[in-house]
Amino acid sequence: MPSPLPPSLVFIGHPGHELRILGWIAAVRPVVSVLTDGSGSTGDGRLDVTNTTIEAAGGCPQPPFGPLTDAAVYEALLTGGFDTLTDIAATLASTIVERRIERVVADAIEGYNPTHDACQLLAQAAVQAACRRGQRATVFEFEVVEASQRTDERDDVLLLELDDAGLDRKLALATAYARQAGQVLEQEVTGMIARHGPEAFRRERLVPASTASLASRFGGEAPFYETHGERRVREGKYSRALRLHEHLVPFERCLRDWVMSAS
Ligand SMILES: [Zn+2]
Repeated sequence: MPSPLPPSLVFIGHPGHELRILGWIAAVRPVVSVLTDGSGSTGDGRLDVTNTTIEAAGGCPQPPFGPLTDAAVYEALLTGGFDTLTDIAATLASTIVERRIERVVADAIEGYNPTHDACQLLAQAAVQAACRRGQRATVFEFEVVEASQRTDERDDVLLLELDDAGLDRKLALATAYARQAGQVLEQEVTGMIARHGPEAFRRERLVPASTASLASRFGGEAPFYETHGERRVREGKYSRALRLHEHLVPFERCLRDWVMSAS
């Protein structure tokens, strides 16, 4: 990587996502913010474990640091009460301006979990608002759920290939995380180790974020969270499902308007 390192901000949707890019956090020592506290139906959050993990890797936890529950994010998206979310974009924008952040790294939009997709949309809105205040930054995304081993690299992709010692250290932190998280099901990360094996953790790939509209993504299909949510409604486990066109697209539009009104 070029030196000196550009000041960087990581913004993740859930505590635990930092495990996907721990090598990069150790190399760049960014400030790290988190959208939600990781609490699920059990009510237990895991922010303290994430705080410890980020500091152990060399990153610096920074507000907003898990101010919302996942349920609050879903509720905001379902009801169109986006103020709590635009407040977070405003805090991120201020951090970008004040710390002269040049790179922002956030969850990729994968259509898997609405909180992940909202995280990326918030990062992009914050960067656009900061740009209006004179601070230019580039947004990068990393895959949270997918584990593509693509090699068709472009010049603008940030690729980190961990050596054996770096991989061992990362897996040790991930294992310690899963142990400390205790009862909380850390399914995205531990599931990935099980599915793809430790080698999938060696490569960390940060790609300049796509600015394609949500409506143009997913090849015209419903994203996973929509079909999954509708199945849960049929089973009587959810009362309503989050939908791309009904809920996420209006949120994207709200953020666009918010950027234009932010100063
Ligand atoms: Zn997640």
